[in-house]
Amino acid sequence: MPLRPLCVFTLACLAATASGAAAASASRDQATTRAEWNAPQAPFRIYGNTWYVGPHGLSSILVNTGRGLALFDGDLPESATQIEAHVRELGFRVRDIKWILNSHAHQDHAGGIARLQRDSGAQVLASAEGAHQMALGGADPADPQYGFQLTYAPVPRVRVVRDGETLQLGNVAVTAHYTPGHTPGSTSWTWTSCAGSRCLHMVYADSLTALAAPGYRFSDHPDYLAAFRRSIASVAALPCDILMTPHPDASGFWDRVARRQSPDDVSPLIDAGACRAYAAAAARTLDAQLARERAAAK
Ligand SMILES: [Zn+2]
Repeated sequence: MPLRPLCVFTLACLAATASGAAAASASRDQATTRAEWNAPQAPFRIYGNTWYVGPHGLSSILVNTGRGLALFDGDLPESATQIEAHVRELGFRVRDIKWILNSHAHQDHAGGIARLQRDSGAQVLASAEGAHQMALGGADPADPQYGFQLTYAPVPRVRVVRDGETLQLGNVAVTAHYTPGHTPGSTSWTWTSCAGSRCLHMVYADSLTALAAPGYRFSDHPDYLAAFRRSIASVAALPCDILMTPHPDASGFWDRVARRQSPDDVSPLIDAGACRAYAAAAARTLDAQLARERAAAK
């Protein structure tokens, strides 16, 4: 059905298409989607100090700062075991994870954080709205997908990072870029990774997909919509050598990885236009969503 392609990156929208007898089938679809997202994936080095430790369908990015590990996203609750196993497989220790940073506080990116925090003792960092949503276990009425998104174990102790703030995590400077839209607290993160003397701009850009629960219209929230547009523009403008996104498929990550000739071959991963292309796709999705809102109002 027409809505389905818009729903590929959220579990909850599968439920939105369900009604009556279709509910059981939607529930099976949800289970299938979760299993696909959580499919096994061997961990590997992306570049320099940056590693992929998530399952196949949901990114979890590990950065070795030289004085502790930084982990971006905890994925689904059931992903935590796999992420921890991947960290160990790479020769690191879970208790050396000192920081856990979140892209946005939906279950498929924050659901595993409570467990990962407990097991590692790490400090969790997020935007102000992201921290608020994590404390609610994902159920934030300000979220365009409120009511759709599945909840998870709340993360009560989160250090709030300001927009534009650069954190010195060990030897790595990580900058937070507030990019609200997909959720109010959406945050994109940037840092630099080096191999030898070659340093690259790493971007973990948050989801920019305009998805809404029934009854929510972006056009009813002009300030939020304007902020969403600014987020898209700011992601397009980031210095961007290697783009990573919470859903790797949303930025062609696996296609780029597949073109590597060896584990150290970084060339296929580099695309200085990747952030602009990702932002342009988000703008098209947002425009399509607004067009649907206008059509539905007639
Ligand atoms: Zn989401």
